[in-house]
Amino acid sequence: MKIDGGCHCGAIRFEAEVAADRITICHCTDCQNLTGTAYRATVAAPGESFTLQGAPTIYVKTGTSGAKREHAFCPTCGAPIYSTGPETHAVYSLRIGTIRQRHDLGRPRGQGWSRSALAWSADLTGIPKHPTQPQY
Ligand SMILES: [Zn+2]
Ligand SMILES: [Zn+2]
Repeated sequence: MKIDGGCHCGAIRFEAEVAADRITICHCTDCQNLTGTAYRATVAAPGESFTLQGAPTIYVKTGTSGAKREHAFCPTCGAPIYSTGPETHAVYSLRIGTIRQRHDLGRPRGQGWSRSALAWSADLTGIPKHPTQPQY
């Protein structure tokens, strides 16, 4: 499906073609640290379908395997936009929360690095819910 999205401040916009069943979750410690939260959810987009407006800042991360990965984020609002393999840019891993049609995408098909998942993130049932901003 055709999707579009962007960062919080609007400086970065993108469009892509994604398969709605290509969502995955990553619980690795790098994703926890780079997102600032419990885990990352992404959808894969073929490089040839991805178009970008604006100029994200690129941070090149070297993984434990030695593989390098470009992580793009907005230099103004800090929203993470995508990661991709340097040079080839064959696939863009788009961050679910930046996609306007995120509610229309399917459920994730898998979770990576579950060994470093925060225990509570496996099951949110029973944690009290509030439809808007809660008062704690
Ligand atoms: Zn921004
Ligand atoms: Zn990860």
